[in-house]
Amino acid sequence: MAQKQQARSSGKPQDSGSLTREDFDGGPVSIDEIETGLFLGNLTAATHMETLKSFKITHILTLDSVPLPQHILEASFLTTKYIQIADMPREDILQHLESCVNFISSALDQQGNVLVHCYFGVSRSSSTVIAYMMKRHNLDFQPAYELVRGKRRFVQPNSGFITQLKLFRRMGCKIDPSYQRYKMHRLRLAGEQMRKAKILPQSFHSVVRPDPDITRENPEPIVFRCRRCRRVLASKSHVLEHKPRDRLPREGTSTAVPNEDASGETPPPTQTQADNISAPRMLEQVAERIRQSSLGSPGHESTPNHCRSMLFIEPIAWMHRIMLNTQGRLYCPKCEQKLGNFSWINACQCPCGETLSPAFYLIPSKVELSKAVQNVQTTV
Ligand SMILES: [Zn+2]
Ligand SMILES: [Zn+2]
Repeated sequence: MAQKQQARSSGKPQDSGSLTREDFDGGPVSIDEIETGLFLGNLTAATHMETLKSFKITHILTLDSVPLPQHILEASFLTTKYIQIADMPREDILQHLESCVNFISSALDQQGNVLVHCYFGVSRSSSTVIAYMMKRHNLDFQPAYELVRGKRRFVQPNSGFITQLKLFRRMGCKIDPSYQRYKMHRLRLAGEQMRKAKILPQSFHSVVRPDPDITRENPEPIVFRCRRCRRVLASKSHVLEHKPRDRLPREGTSTAVPNEDASGETPPPTQTQADNISAPRMLEQVAERIRQSSLGSPGHESTPNHCRSMLFIEPIAWMHRIMLNTQGRLYCPKCEQKLGNFSWINACQCPCGETLSPAFYLIPSKVELSKAVQNVQTTV
């Protein structure tokens, strides 16, 4: 049954810290049926013709750094799909999950038998099978993982893949480009590219959003403008919201507002609690509300939990040379007022303590919220 893989002697990804090549003695066939028609296995299984025939495999999904040998790819009874990916936590498996899940579903719909494999059948392929199980059975990551592990004890996605699987589940087992955590996932990948190449590759240009001052399609009603020249800088959907990190009001700080910090975590203070708030604290609250309202109220009213000490946003096309520099300052494209900073490679910390990386931020005192609808032809 065992068969060595002569052609794959170099550049192999490490599939798991808990298994080594010795465990497989150079790679005997390893294959397990996860549910009817769905098999998870190693490379040896996928290249061993007798195994494929005995399990009546009709479809092979390969997640590996090199494709299967030609004689397998050309076998008349097989439909194959290849995803080039290494088993590294920072690899972007998320972008492939939807198409992989669809491939598995389609194979099973045709009453086929599908083998999903990587090198060891431990991390990349198991992540893909877990994604399928989450979608097929409407499961969270943990029960899906346990289900798969119950059928194949080697299963162990790497830590980065686990995070991505949980994100995939949160997005409804599909990619939702408007989902904030997905935007941050893409920005982090783009940041790694910038760190390595010092230039943003074409494949990541989409993380830089169109300029809302130029885009006339589906303009958003609430925008941030340059406070000095009123040029539109960002739409509300460009904001990468965060909740204040520092939830405990501290003595002598002007940013600690009990109502603000606790909102979303605990109910608003009762009358009795409010009565107990000291006079200086009340004044602080009033001052904070005036400061917040100076940013404009439309967006603030609907997002009371969000910190506004710093305005983290997605990269936007007006930001000068951000595709060529790893970090720098952000200036208003119209009046050249300094508005904030950006860094693809370093974390930036909000006064509340929260950090983002990569970070593109506007200083709140330099911008103002306004409604843009007055400039737009509306049809009723
Ligand atoms: Zn300006
Ligand atoms: Zn903050």
